Amino acid sequence: MMKMKKQILTLLLSAAALLHCGAQAKYVFYFIGDGMGMGHVNAAETYNRDILGNPDPLLMMTFPVASQSRTYSASSPVTDSAAAGTALSTGSKTVNYRLAMNPDSAMLYSITRDFIAAGRPVGIATSVAGDDATPGAFYGHGLSRNDVLDIAPGAVGSGVSFLAGGSFKILDAEGDAGEKWLEAMRKDGYSVVKGSGEYHALAEKDKKKVLMMAPTDYWDQIGYTIDSIPGALTLPEITAACLQTVSANDRGEGFFMMVEGGNIDWAAHANDGGAVIKEVLNFQDAIRHAYDFYLDHPDETLIIVTADHDTGGMALGRADNHRDIHLEYIDAQRQSKDRFADLCRERKARGEELSWPEMQRYLADMLGLGSAIPLTDEDMRDLKETFDATFITGDAKDQKTLYNDFNAFTAKAYDIQNRHIGIGWTSNNHTGNFVPVYAIGPGSELFTGNLDNTRIPMLIRRAALGE
Ligand SMILES: [Zn+2]
Repeated sequence: MMKMKKQILTLLLSAAALLHCGAQAKYVFYFIGDGMGMGHVNAAETYNRDILGNPDPLLMMTFPVASQSRTYSASSPVTDSAAAGTALSTGSKTVNYRLAMNPDSAMLYSITRDFIAAGRPVGIATSVAGDDATPGAFYGHGLSRNDVLDIAPGAVGSGVSFLAGGSFKILDAEGDAGEKWLEAMRKDGYSVVKGSGEYHALAEKDKKKVLMMAPTDYWDQIGYTIDSIPGALTLPEITAACLQTVSANDRGEGFFMMVEGGNIDWAAHANDGGAVIKEVLNFQDAIRHAYDFYLDHPDETLIIVTADHDTGGMALGRADNHRDIHLEYIDAQRQSKDRFADLCRERKARGEELSWPEMQRYLADMLGLGSAIPLTDEDMRDLKETFDATFITGDAKDQKTLYNDFNAFTAKAYDIQNRHIGIGWTSNNHTGNFVPVYAIGPGSELFTGNLDNTRIPMLIRRAALGE
């Protein structure tokens, strides 16, 4: 009798397991932290625990599946965002700089097409340009990611319901390409709005939306969390708008959303550790919108969080500061390295002289150098010499990175700050490091083990569409 009961129980359990495995994800959230390597997550996690005093790990780290992905491209162990975006959206490797086209220039198609064909609305959102490599790989194509005239037009007729970014590069192109693109999008049924005020004023009948930031002089991206720019869109806000639009378009089949935390990469290219940590925490706030949705629909919602590549090789500990870690110094930083460099450049352009005492006050106020962060005599000498070489004699060379040219003084000040914090960098570009993969919800068990980045979209399709 006992044995029979046990057999029935085993049978019931395996039937339940089968049912669970067979359960398809109706709602899919795909989060891509651009450039978010293991070191970035670890630094944010340590700051969250030791400085903010949060007993719980980062939200993504609480997901039951935590694995890793390889990111190499068809042309290098170190991928760029276009080849990585292509892998994460289409499931195929390509050469660096190519977007959703293979090394022989044949078209590759994003899994978003399959979701749209299955009647599931698709939303694509980022904090950087909406036609940059990562978002672009989900609806557009290009022989090079720099062919900005080719990528955004891929959205016309794509069937994507929601598309958001700080701006769109095509709008900065010479001639009327930007205007023509907007016209084509409007003809295709999109309402194009700038800023959250205009977004919320949209009527119920506006089903397809393009959201970007109200015009500012602030690059193509929405600005860094650490700079708290008044009136700027935030990634959590964009994510909520995306979720609202795809939900409104859902006809009962579910939806698919891709959200990119693009500023993590920008801050890492700048080797700006404080800005990276604040961006990862902001990315977590965006993920929280999906997680709240998951809590309401736990049997139908799949959340994947990963990165396209590591940027900067960021780590706690560095060659000149092994383990004297002071993440509390980040609380004294009130300005990103990019913003600091821009302000120096603007003052120079206006012909305004910067004096050393004024700069010392500025460093203390905005970066904590000499106030929260005690400086050595050698630090002071180093800063003064670099100040003279940058602003007085003009002998110092700029530090050039993907997104900005930093004057030597800015580079020096942030390097000294990073040294005192204990954050090290191996590059101001991408690295070949593994990136994390976190997953929760039906189908998340597929994402265990060592993954290749090309497997991720294929597994998402299997979990959600059963293909
Ligand atoms: Zn990237």
